[in-house]
Amino acid sequence: MTQHSGSCLCGSVKYQLEGEFHNFFLCHCSYCQKGTGSAHAANLFSKNAQLNWLQGQDKVTFYNLPETRHGRSFCSTCGSPVPTSLGGGKLIMVPAGSMDSPVTIKPTAHLFIASKADWEQELDQVHQFQGFPE
Ligand SMILES: [Zn+2]
Ligand SMILES: [Zn+2]
Repeated sequence: MTQHSGSCLCGSVKYQLEGEFHNFFLCHCSYCQKGTGSAHAANLFSKNAQLNWLQGQDKVTFYNLPETRHGRSFCSTCGSPVPTSLGGGKLIMVPAGSMDSPVTIKPTAHLFIASKADWEQELDQVHQFQGFPE
């Protein structure tokens, strides 16, 4: 079993995960755009992982959009997405950006591309800086 670890932006929430990732989905649906404030969510999925909160479990807030299967967990201090246990723990969803250990799996697929943000086109042609704009 591979061990993975991660944390939120403020460091209140830390977790460890034992298991393999089976999918890595970039979801462009309108719920994920709202929930991330960006073009898409980037979530790793595991069917056999054991999720252990190392600290800050009391800061983890779960939000389920009423009458949908859309749900996400986040740190109540800094708002960062953190892992979510779905289907009574049968599926663990881990935000790729929350990982501190290396993400070795490549994205599996883009989901809901029919809902893509209007501005999400040819992004690799936009001017790039190493850090802040010069
Ligand atoms: Zn936090
Ligand atoms: Zn989505």
